[in-house]
Amino acid sequence: MSTSTLSSLQEARTRIDEINQRVIELLAERQAVVDELCDVKADTGRAIRDPDREAELIGHVRDAAEEAGLPPDLAEALFDEILEHSVQRQRQRRDSSSEESADEPSTEARRPASTQPDAVSRNGTASSPDPPTPASTAEAATPPDDVPTDRAYHRVSRDHQPEDTVVHVGDVAIGDGSPILIAGPCSVESRDQILRSAEAVAAAGGHLLRGGCFKPRTSPYSFQGRGEEGLTLLAEAGRRFDIPVITEVLAPGDVAAVAARADVLQIGARNMQNFPLLKAVGAADPPVMLKRGMMASIDEWLAAAEYIVAHGNPNVFLCERGIQTFTSATRYTLDLSSVPVAQERTHLPVVVDPSHACGTRRWVPPLVRAAVAADADGVMVEAHPCPEDALSDGPQSLPLSALGHLGDLFGNGSG
Ligand code: PEP
Ligand code: MN
Repeated sequence: MSTSTLSSLQEARTRIDEINQRVIELLAERQAVVDELCDVKADTGRAIRDPDREAELIGHVRDAAEEAGLPPDLAEALFDEILEHSVQRQRQRRDSSSEESADEPSTEARRPASTQPDAVSRNGTASSPDPPTPASTAEAATPPDDVPTDRAYHRVSRDHQPEDTVVHVGDVAIGDGSPILIAGPCSVESRDQILRSAEAVAAAGGHLLRGGCFKPRTSPYSFQGRGEEGLTLLAEAGRRFDIPVITEVLAPGDVAAVAARADVLQIGARNMQNFPLLKAVGAADPPVMLKRGMMASIDEWLAAAEYIVAHGNPNVFLCERGIQTFTSATRYTLDLSSVPVAQERTHLPVVVDPSHACGTRRWVPPLVRAAVAADADGVMVEAHPCPEDALSDGPQSLPLSALGHLGDLFGNGSG
């Protein structure tokens, strides 16, 4: 290399270093504004995440990138990471301010359930008057004053709150009397797979896109999900087709990462009584869908929901997914009677997952209709662009073309 080539290389590298320095300084400036924003949100009782604002921000950066001659996908991927970091930082900031004020019960960072913007009951009143206890995996929650002590659950019971709770996820209302449709693949497998699924779910009028990223598999040798990479793909698919996303969280240590990208946290059947996990999602912001354990009674299910609410998160809905019985004709037995029974005992919405219950795709549509006829607040079904090739639960997954027929059974869910 000649001396003049070497010096132009050096010069270009110096310029790159200077630009990197400016980018770092701008990111630090942005972080300082995020801290201010976090405090304003806390003072005005706002949630950390605002999916509409995030979608708007990504839209702006894509437009700006295009105008500046940069690939919009690159800008979106970079700002996904930046947004993710902002959310984590705001959560840490709230957590540390709640530790500082732990001795002042009325000024705890976590607002009482009755002031949570999402905790509005069907008749428009606040869903729970009880201040939640601070989250701690080792501490018992404090029961409300007015409750009998002969039952494991109080806050979620009808006696305690006669009005139905409506859980809001963006524009989607769960439990407002109009059933919702949750659909998507068992697992997020690839970008193409989840984007095609999201497009079909949105086109069918689905309200939430599902896709497992951390998979609870019976065999340790089976596909375990794509983890954090899957979360990023799922979030991208949700944003692109303007549909909120739900995914399972398996471990307390994963709650922050899942809560940063998902609109709803799913607790799976196998974890219904994983109490540290219930406490951890109780301390998180997003709504939670709690599946019934395959060996759990309805009261055990409601007591598990009580854990989440008692630890600070009032935005819980239940999901019946079938229980173990003597029969082997179906994968589990769909206990549809739990829908009216649970709705009588709790004010929380109840949805039904016929896919995991019956395990065979051709039985899913009649069971969807049965769930709607039983007044379930919604249904969750598995669907895949190519069910034969699915890495998990292919036999019970509907082809995407079947979703359109189901969509007609569901209202628009907004409210
Ligand atoms: C799922 O919905 O992906 C799932 C694993 O279901 P369940 O926990 O009901 O088995
Ligand atoms: Mn599945």
